[in-house]
Order: sequence, then structure tokens, then C-alpha cells
Amino acid sequence: MNKATILVVEDDTPVRNLIVTTLKTHEYKYLTAASGSEALMMASSYNPDVIFLDLGLPDIDGIEVIEQIRSWSNTPIIVISARSEDDDKIKALDAGADDYLTKPFSVEELLARLRVTIRRLSLMSPEGSSESSEYTNGDLRIDYPAGCAYLGEEELKLTPIEYKLLCLLAKNTGKVLTHTYITQNIWGRSWDNDIASLRVFMATLRKKLEPSPDSPQYIQTHIGIGYRMMKVE
Ligand code: CA
Repeated sequence: MNKATILVVEDDTPVRNLIVTTLKTHEYKYLTAASGSEALMMASSYNPDVIFLDLGLPDIDGIEVIEQIRSWSNTPIIVISARSEDDDKIKALDAGADDYLTKPFSVEELLARLRVTIRRLSLMSPEGSSESSEYTNGDLRIDYPAGCAYLGEEELKLTPIEYKLLCLLAKNTGKVLTHTYITQNIWGRSWDNDIASLRVFMATLRKKLEPSPDSPQYIQTHIGIGYRMMKVE
């Protein structure tokens, strides 16, 4: 894909300038907005490839901006939060954001998040279609019609829940999924017990999937938030 167009939504001028300068240096195209209403207008008029969204905006709450954009668009949204509380990030991810950056962040961090998100975009494009009956990522392969997963040549002996979990993460490769989102999808509810069970299933899944479970390659943990399937080269 050609260099993506990024919409930067941030009311704090120095932070906005830092992001814009970084994007410019790396030859991304960019648009800017300093309020929620401007963000909604820019997002609908210019259809950017990725949106960086500050949660603390002067007019509309960032969470509401995500909800509104999600009502008509799947454009990846990376939330920027000055608030260190995990609650805001979780709310943003549950509202449909794809990833988050916590202020203060480094330029390297910003670029890394952008790369992950753009890689996710190319996975969603027709040739890497989510409609396809097979998923491959590094040595991992999922044969959806057969309901089997393989690591290299070896079939993974997964329980039905582990398999469901793996498919959910695979379908959302590159995206951080919250505990609530995952448990809702697996069990149709999200009680404290389910989140505790999720940890157990994740541990057993990793033992089968990861060559070295202590330094996982495929499934990344976001402490207090959730999990993400990484794209493995
Ligand atoms: Ca702000």
C-alpha cells in the first residue's frame, strides 16, 4: 500500500505538532483536527487510512467520537490518552478502537503502533482476506473448514475453547482485544469468573502454541487490558 493518510485528532498543539512532524519525516500523508466535531467532519469527508485520536477533547468525549465513527466506518483508530487509567483505554477499545498510546510516548512507539495498524490494514485487504478459509501467520496455520490449527507440520491439540480463542485472536490480528470483548465472544458474558478462566485458557493455549511460552511470539499480553495476536514475520 502507498503511504497511508493519517488523521491526527489532538487539541494539544505541541503534541499534535510532534505527531505531524514524525509523520512528515516518514513521508506519511496527514490531516489534523483539534476537536471532536472537526474529527468527525474530517473522517467522513477524507476517509483517512488510520486515525490517531486523543481522548480528552474540548467538545465531544473521545469515546463518543469512536462510537460515532464506528457507526459508519472500520478505519483503524489508535487512541492517545494522557490519562493513565486503564479504564479509559478499555472503554476506548471496547468502543471499537484498535490500539492505544499513553502520553508521554516516544516517536519510536508512535511509529511502531502505526506500522502494526497498517499491517493489520493490509491483512484486511482482499488478498489477505478474512473471508479466506485458511489463516497463516508465521508457522501458525488455521484451517477453518476443518476446524484444525497447525504449527508448522504439527497439528495443535486444542480444546474447543482454546480453538475458539485462537480463531478470535487470529481474526483480529494486530488489534488489542479487551478481556471483556474476548469473554463476551467466547462465553457470551463477562463475569469476573470468566476473566479468571480466560487467563487459564490463555496459559494452556500458549503452552501449545508458543515455542517458548515465557517469551511469546504470537500472543502479546496487555496487563490489565487484554491480549493481541501479533503478525509474525
Ligand atoms: Ca487533549
